[in-house]
Amino acid sequence: MTDLTRLLAHEMTDRLRAGEITSRALTEAHLDAAEAGNHALNAWLTIDRERALVEADAADVRLASPVGAADAHPLLGVPVALKDLVSVKGGQCTAGSRILEGYLAPYDAHITERLRAVGAVILGKTNMDEFAMGSSNEHSAYGPVANPWDLETVPGGSSGGSAVAVAAYHAPLSIGTDTGGSIRQPAALTGIVGIKPTYGRVSRYGIVAFASSLDQIGPFARDVRDAAALLHAVAGRDERDSTSASVPVPDELLHLPASDDEAAAGLRGKRLGLPREYFVAGMDPDSRRRIEESVAALEGAGATVEEVSLPHTDYGLATYYIVAPAEASANLARYDGVRFGPRLGDSDVLRNYLATRGRGFGPEVKRRIMLGTYALSAGYYDAFYVKAQKVRTLIKRDFDDLFERGFDALVAPTSPTTAFQFGAKMADPVAMYLSDACTLPVNMAGLPGISIPCGLSEGMPVGLQLIGPAWSELELFRLSRGFEALTSAAQWRGQEPTQLDLTTDPAQPTPAERAQALAQH
Ligand code: GLN
Repeated sequence: MTDLTRLLAHEMTDRLRAGEITSRALTEAHLDAAEAGNHALNAWLTIDRERALVEADAADVRLASPVGAADAHPLLGVPVALKDLVSVKGGQCTAGSRILEGYLAPYDAHITERLRAVGAVILGKTNMDEFAMGSSNEHSAYGPVANPWDLETVPGGSSGGSAVAVAAYHAPLSIGTDTGGSIRQPAALTGIVGIKPTYGRVSRYGIVAFASSLDQIGPFARDVRDAAALLHAVAGRDERDSTSASVPVPDELLHLPASDDEAAAGLRGKRLGLPREYFVAGMDPDSRRRIEESVAALEGAGATVEEVSLPHTDYGLATYYIVAPAEASANLARYDGVRFGPRLGDSDVLRNYLATRGRGFGPEVKRRIMLGTYALSAGYYDAFYVKAQKVRTLIKRDFDDLFERGFDALVAPTSPTTAFQFGAKMADPVAMYLSDACTLPVNMAGLPGISIPCGLSEGMPVGLQLIGPAWSELELFRLSRGFEALTSAAQWRGQEPTQLDLTTDPAQPTPAERAQALAQH
């Protein structure tokens, strides 16, 4: 009997359609894995066995009816995990914050509706940095998440729980959000695939907002084809999010080449740019070697790779940390203890407000609200916010120029380093912010970017980032599938996270306990 949790989503689809397995069996296997591994990983904030099994049984009924299964979406009956900022009617939605503890979502997010419509099974909600602010998942009010490759290291953030759920075989697929790197960076650090789609590709209706002009929803998966299928299920225009675009979602997302030869052949003649500014100072040399080897492999398959420049890259971090906190300070004003979550204090309105926000928000969120409020204040608006928006346009133009010159995509590192130890960057917010130096500009420009595994450095996963013009997700998936095919025989490909075995041992410390022990050293 094969372990059902080791199957890729498309293998699950094949077996479900062939009647070899049921969605109930698949769902149970994943719920068991999630429950067994959560003590040591803390990837989940809720595991909803009851609801998941009801959905699995409903999927099995559809699969059994000949009309139901014939042209159903491939995700029918396949388990999925959602980051805990996606609304699921009647379920908790903490966004990793105390201020939303006990709040129950009154409606389904657009993507939840879409997942229900295709018959995917929602297993539960995953841990995350509070309000998606962070690059390590150490800013969750519900404790850090551990990386199954080394339990003393972070999985990246802010969608660390969703990345670990997939990397540790608790779910074949999960949903994250990416405002400045929060899908791609944790995908890189845990050795899986993650894509931030073009701004406007996926509706943000029902998603807790961080920075509305940057936030995008996207998939995590263990291979490229699975990520494409999940994007296909959730993407598309939704009237309730005015920024969601009416650009058609190509059905070819469901038909990426299965054959490695065909996939690799698709790389021939592709023109790729290698932006020199993405090899940032402080980049770990061995991660850099993995990227260089990947570039050589792409060239070997017939792609041309030219060094290019994105001259305003250096301003990405500074402008992001004006724009994102400014938008966050406005979005988070709604958490006043009246409309959402618990109300603290039993005094007048102002004191209750201060008590609720004072105790409800963690330190990183408060830092962002202060930065954002400052940047938007009357005397500084032009000097900071308006200027940052202008620089944002320059960052976008850098990309536009290259795509107008005919580049199919840009190749770059996803993260300057592999996963770091708990506590390593907690005392220095700027060091933490630098984790996203290679991903932030892509959000500033609204473009799609994917991270795919490209090898190991000292035993830890390294991610390769591909960045494309707006709406080029299909092309990015084809290129990524080509790279996956080229490296299908690589020794690191089949390797499971090295400390996965420890994660099911109840005697292991929790990630919070590990982080505390490291802090005491
Ligand atoms: N790490 C970045 C931040 O803290 C990006 C987070 C994200 O993409 N949600 O803002």
